Amino acid sequence: MPNGFASEIQGIVCFIGVGSNVDDPASRCCEAVQRVSAVRGIKVLRTSSLYRTEPVGFIEQERFVNAVIEIRTVLSPRELLNDLRAVEDGMGRVRGPKWGPRIIDLDILLYGQEIIQDDALIVPHPELHKRRFVLTPLCEIASYVIHPAFGISIHGLMNRLGDESRIHIHEARGKLCLI
Ligand code: ATP
Ligand code: CA
Ligand code: CA
Repeated sequence: MPNGFASEIQGIVCFIGVGSNVDDPASRCCEAVQRVSAVRGIKVLRTSSLYRTEPVGFIEQERFVNAVIEIRTVLSPRELLNDLRAVEDGMGRVRGPKWGPRIIDLDILLYGQEIIQDDALIVPHPELHKRRFVLTPLCEIASYVIHPAFGISIHGLMNRLGDESRIHIHEARGKLCLI
């Protein structure tokens, strides 16, 4: 194996959902990706386009911008969750109502093929397969990935999706890309 190769493939490939609907949401998503890429033990591999989506839950609020990033990390699931929370806190996230306005939201969608269910962390994210605003960007960069609990690809989940909410590209792929 060539020198350096082993260290590059260390860690687990994960997908992180990024969302914002406050204070120039597209810029907040880009800032979050940059902050995540600066976390020790995380390498951002790829980013989806930015999508503008209709809010779910409280519909009387600014529209969301959503994206998905693919990372490789040597952090454990709980360490990753804590570091993502630290990024959210660092950007001034105030813990408000679930699905309410937020400056940034970072969700662990997939952590390799692991299935985790404890008090603080559920992976795959329990709403992943129901949300067009998650599946569309995820499908853009990882259509082939298998959902470990359902044994169905992301593309397959898209085809089964009942969510009829509208979503369209806000900024094409590459804008968020750091590599
Ligand atoms: P949703 O999880 O339905 O998208 P939300 O993102 O608005 O809702 P938050 O208020 O950001 O919810 O998070 C509430 C809690 O969810 C967090 O404190 C965290 O412990 C927990 N959680 C469970 N599973 C995950 C996951 N896969 N990724 C991120 N947080 C998770
Ligand atoms: Ca969320
Ligand atoms: Ca969250």
